[in-house]
Amino acid sequence: MRKLTLAAVLLTGTGLGGSALADEHLRIVEEPLELTIQMNHARYPVYDENWPVEQAARALTGIHLVDATVGANMRTDENTGRTEALNLMLASGNIPDIVGSSRLKDFVNQFGPEGAFVPLNDLIEEHAPNMRAFFAENPDIASAISAADGNMYYIPYLPDGKYGRAYFIRYDWLDALGLDVPETVEEVEEVLRAFKTQDPNGNGLQDEVPYFARQWPELIRLVTLWDGRSSGSDTYHDFYVDDGQIRHPYAGEGYRDGIANLARWYEEGLIDGEIFTRGSSAREYLLSENLGGMTHDWFASTSGYNRLSESIDGFQFRAFAPPASVSGRRIAEHRRIPIKPDGWAISYTNEHPVETIRYFDFWFSEEGRRLANFGVEGQQYELVDGEPIFTDEVLNSDQPVNNQLYGVGAQLQARGYYQDYAYEVQWSNEYALEGIALYDEGDYLIDQFLGVAFTPDEQQIYDRHWSSIRDYMLERQQQWILGSGDVMEDWDDYLATLDDMGFQNVLEVMNTAYERQYN
Ligand code: CA
Repeated sequence: MRKLTLAAVLLTGTGLGGSALADEHLRIVEEPLELTIQMNHARYPVYDENWPVEQAARALTGIHLVDATVGANMRTDENTGRTEALNLMLASGNIPDIVGSSRLKDFVNQFGPEGAFVPLNDLIEEHAPNMRAFFAENPDIASAISAADGNMYYIPYLPDGKYGRAYFIRYDWLDALGLDVPETVEEVEEVLRAFKTQDPNGNGLQDEVPYFARQWPELIRLVTLWDGRSSGSDTYHDFYVDDGQIRHPYAGEGYRDGIANLARWYEEGLIDGEIFTRGSSAREYLLSENLGGMTHDWFASTSGYNRLSESIDGFQFRAFAPPASVSGRRIAEHRRIPIKPDGWAISYTNEHPVETIRYFDFWFSEEGRRLANFGVEGQQYELVDGEPIFTDEVLNSDQPVNNQLYGVGAQLQARGYYQDYAYEVQWSNEYALEGIALYDEGDYLIDQFLGVAFTPDEQQIYDRHWSSIRDYMLERQQQWILGSGDVMEDWDDYLATLDDMGFQNVLEVMNTAYERQYN
């Protein structure tokens, strides 16, 4: 059949023949091959074989995925994306050929070495040139997704774009008070105090809330201004890597000094008095009521609040560069993580592992990656000078672009694929792009901790100690900020208590696993 098609192409010459040839090089099987799939993810409804992206992939590759998802819609018709679905699937003993899910990493790294999933390293080496090239260029990502036995058991969803959160401030309030954008931690303090005391919203009341956050750990993030750390990844309270060693932010002296100063700021009213309780509506409420002055939040969604200039005269909430710390360091601690624990894997029951890894590799080809990111040409996008550009219908819809894409089977995060940031640029607010350019220019991002995979013994030690240590850290942290206890006086006792609770044992297994995985 392939020979016939090639002959037809040679006979018909250019035009349609050319595109038929382009299609043919992605074909994996001559006769259509059906593979079953478990796919669940909280972001979108249950897997749909009729998604236009899935149909296009079938036409190009010859591989037909058949939905065999267990447990994704237990409670409602919405997908929960929870790992219970994976446990149900495993318990049923009926594991589909391909398993795609949110939070798949720990699951496959536990059950893969026990035989439930196929190790992918050799398959990639021999049959998946696109993924082989990707991992050769990104060896840290290959290390990060590997299990304790050194094998990869899943292909992750790989987000693109580096920037996540930034410092935002009311530029119009600075103007109103004759202040410059703060460049240092000392200047931040002066500005917050001026916001508190000099009525920048002009209503004659001292009602301004100088620093606020939707997520209270974004208050703790400010310890970076005293050379502390609050997390090593895009997960709050995570470990971080310091000169090749795994440490925890909440045991460092910079953190201690930062907490002491944040307690002082809190007492003085420079920080939202309800920072720990106001919750996810804080940004919406404090900005639309013309009360909030400064926060640390996502570029895209926070920039979107500049629409409030229609109702609040002069409203300008824009990103500013990370202020210099007490020692002069400027860092953006938060960044997008390059790998998610979401993705897909090949189960031990799969009788076509070679075809399956080639199918996985299709999504890393130019055509497959475009399909995964932008949808179908002529439907969601058009190629303009070789670049996929979303149609006006997609860009001007009432629905967010990403939700529209989930609806056609693109941007599925339970599929292993490499996101293309160009998909997001096309619908990013001008203020977000301006802020990202500012952060890019200053090169403020720092390296992040990409996680470790434990052996069963290490896992046991970690599980025995870590959650109670973490609870204790967070409890003390909040008490100190709220003025109960003095972090400087309590510090030595605090460290001793951490050690009594097994903190050093946890650090030891973290470091052993880290050393094995990355060095
Ligand atoms: Ca006021």
